[in-house]
Formats: sequence, C-alpha cells, structure tokens
Amino acid sequence: MEIPYKIYLSEAEMPRYWYNVRADMQTKPAPLLNPVTGKPMTVEELSGVFCEELVKQELDDDTRFYPIPEDILSFYRMYRPSPLVRAYCLEEKLKTPAKIYYKFEGNNTSGSHKLNSAVAQAYYAKMQGLKGVTTETGAGQWGTALSMACSYFGLDCRVYMVKVSYEQKPFRREVMKVYGASVTPSPSDTTAVGRKILAEHPGTTGSLGCAISEAVETAVSNPGYRYVLGSVLNQVLLHQSVIGVETKIAMDKYGIKPDVIIGCAGGGSNLGGLIAPFMGEKLRGEADYRFVAVEPASCPSLTRGVYAYDFCDTGAVCPLAKMYTLGSDFIPAPNHAGGLRYHGMSPVLSELYHQGMLEAVSVPQTAVFEAAEAFARVEGILPAPESSHAIKAAMDEAIRCRETGEAKTILFGLTGTGYFDLVAYEKFHDRQMDDYVPTDEELARYAAKLPKV
Ligand SMILES: *Cc1c(COP(=O)(O)O)cnc(C)c1O
Repeated sequence: MEIPYKIYLSEAEMPRYWYNVRADMQTKPAPLLNPVTGKPMTVEELSGVFCEELVKQELDDDTRFYPIPEDILSFYRMYRPSPLVRAYCLEEKLKTPAKIYYKFEGNNTSGSHKLNSAVAQAYYAKMQGLKGVTTETGAGQWGTALSMACSYFGLDCRVYMVKVSYEQKPFRREVMKVYGASVTPSPSDTTAVGRKILAEHPGTTGSLGCAISEAVETAVSNPGYRYVLGSVLNQVLLHQSVIGVETKIAMDKYGIKPDVIIGCAGGGSNLGGLIAPFMGEKLRGEADYRFVAVEPASCPSLTRGVYAYDFCDTGAVCPLAKMYTLGSDFIPAPNHAGGLRYHGMSPVLSELYHQGMLEAVSVPQTAVFEAAEAFARVEGILPAPESSHAIKAAMDEAIRCRETGEAKTILFGLTGTGYFDLVAYEKFHDRQMDDYVPTDEELARYAAKLPKV
C-alpha cells in the first residue's frame, strides 16, 4: 500500500480518551513529597495549589483511560488531528533505507504541542469555578498556549516569563497579550520569592524554576486562582498522550510499526505523550520498541543528572519530586539558545529511564541547528530549536541505517515551529553560538545541594 505523504485522521477517527501509562507500570513513579513533613503530598495539600480534577489525575496511578470531555474535544478539533508525515524528502537527502515519520504538533497559533494540555487545564479550572490561573513560561510556548486556552474559557491568565526570554522574545510575549494574558518578567519584585532571588542574584536573567516559584506564590495568595504547569507533571503527560494515541491509530491504519521512537525532552511532556501507548504495549509485553529521549548537552538531566528527590523550582516552594535532576539551582549557560532548559525530568520518564525502558542521548546545540536547517530545506517546515533535538537524533539514526543497510522505521515528534526563535537562528548564522557543556565539577557542585530526603 502506498503511504501518503501526510496521514490525517478524520474527525471520527480522532482519539476520545487519554491513556495513562502509569497504569501499566509495575513500579510506579515515586510520589510527590511534602518538603516540610517528608510525607507524600495529600489531595488536600495539593488542592491549595492545583485544580481538584487535576490533582486527581496527578495522583492516579491506576486508571488506564480517561475519556476526553466534550468541550476539550471541540477545542482539539480546531487544530487536531495533527498530521503524521512521511519524510520522503529527508530520506532521499540522507540516502537512507530507513523510513522516517514525524508527528507535527506545530499547526496551531501557539506553535507547539503545549496547547493539548493547556486546554485541558483551563477547562478543569473553569469547571471548578475559578477566576484564573497563574503559570511560568520559558521561551513562551506554554504561556502562549495557556493564554489561548484561557481566553477560550474566559479565565484570567497571569504568566511569569523567564526574564531573558521576555527580553529576547517579544513576539510570543505580545501573542500572549493578544489573548488577554498579563505577562511579568521573572524574577520580579511582585512576589516575595522574586524579591529574594533578585537580592541574592542581582542581574540574573532568570530560570524556569524561579518563575515557577513566583507563579505558585501568586496562585496561593490570590483567592480563586490556582497554579498550572505545562510540563513535568503526570497530568500533563496524560493530556499529551493524545499525540501518541493519534499517532498509533494512524500507524495501525496503514500497518506501520515503528522500530524506534524519538523525542526531545525538556520536562518530558511531548516525549511522554508520544510514546505513551507504545510504551504501554512494551510494558505489557505485547510489542517491543526503542524509545530515545534527546536533551541538550548544556542541560543534560537524564544523561548526567542524578535520580533523586529534588525541588521542582528554585524557590523551593513546590513539592519534592523524584526525578533525574541537575539540582534546582542549575541554570544552563546564557549562550544556550535551544530551549529545553529545565533542571529536572518528568517522574514518569525518570522512572522508565531508571528501569531501562527508555534511552537518552544529549546533543550539542550547533549540531542541532545544523540538523534544523537541513530539515527545513528538504521538508519545508521551519522547526523549533527544541524539536530540532529530535530531528538531529532521527537523522543520526537514519545515517546509521545507511551504514548498516537496515530499513528501520523511525518515528519522531516534531513538537513545534521556529518562527519565534529567529534570534536563536540568527546567533547560529552569525557564528555567535557555542557548545558550552557543563563540567563534571560544576554538576557535582549543584548535585551536592540536593535536598536530603
Ligand atoms: C516546551 C517545548 C518542548 C519541551 O517540553 P517537553 O515538556 O519536554 O515536551 C519541546 N518542543 C517545543 C516546541 C516546546 O514548546
């Protein structure tokens, strides 16, 4: 059967449920801990920070399928199904016998997969009767996605944006404002934790961990507000499973079985979502796949971090999560322009990696931008730098296939577009980009400061 360039599902074929991979894990991800008592976080404790339904999803290691509420399905229909593309032109360029597919999540105004979870989180906040939500954003994709979702449901949206991005990425900042969000550069003097960080590190360009602390503080000190997070958490991986379920339906329809599934990994949500139903089959012993997480060499949480309880944020106001981490104070070198800057990794992916179910590689950023450009020239899409980590690893895999003559089927997640990342592309073109990789001593210094649990 001839496989089309783009496989689109019909609306009737779209998934109507999210899949919770934790239900099929024999050893579950470790629970979130209360940093004061050292005990697992209870529903009551978490409900002060997060929406009730999302707390339920966060703690639910057993329910395999969650029906997607009708209002969320309607929103998904505005930009889903997303295409699954056979990269014929890339295969030809690489002269590889491998078959390469990518699932493209950049076909919406926010430009990335983050909208899949943003709409779910905004929906549950609305159902609970809240006034608004607070969050952090790094490069701005999550804030943009959340502002779109909040405006759809009529919720107030307050975004703390990592200062370096706020200054370097005015376009996403303004898109957020188009959708009615308020955007504050972080660290800021609007919160106690922001003022403390500013006093300790004057001139800091901020970090995701620090912006999270400010957003959480704002949520808990304003009645009718809760905090929402765009990655890392179990609930986010649950919502992002729509990517994987959709991919699996499309592949099954054409009898395609991937050998290796590759995704970039910042906090782990797109990768966790893409691999979810395939990982479920592997965990149940029904099929075998290789799964590869790709991270930047300048922020290598899986490949060089430690598997330990750590804070999710710099200000240490959030629960402790057991994850591969570089330490909550870790901030990648200022020259790092490729996104995926978070110090930790999703507890679900961390546990799967620990069990040997998932592999990880790290790639230097100039090689990532070279791959991005090669991809853009043959496949047409201008990829986000984050997504380009997966492109780089997929191309490497396809080149290995050329050398061994294996006709493997490679699937990777193309999480978004790079139109708002042209400052990073400019640095690459002007040879202003270097490949700073943290030393072992540096990483050891951060690791030594991990909380003792
Ligand atoms: C946020 C983002 C990522 C990384 O986040 P994950 O939670 O690891 O998926 C990757 N690609 C794009 C385009 C993003 O916006």
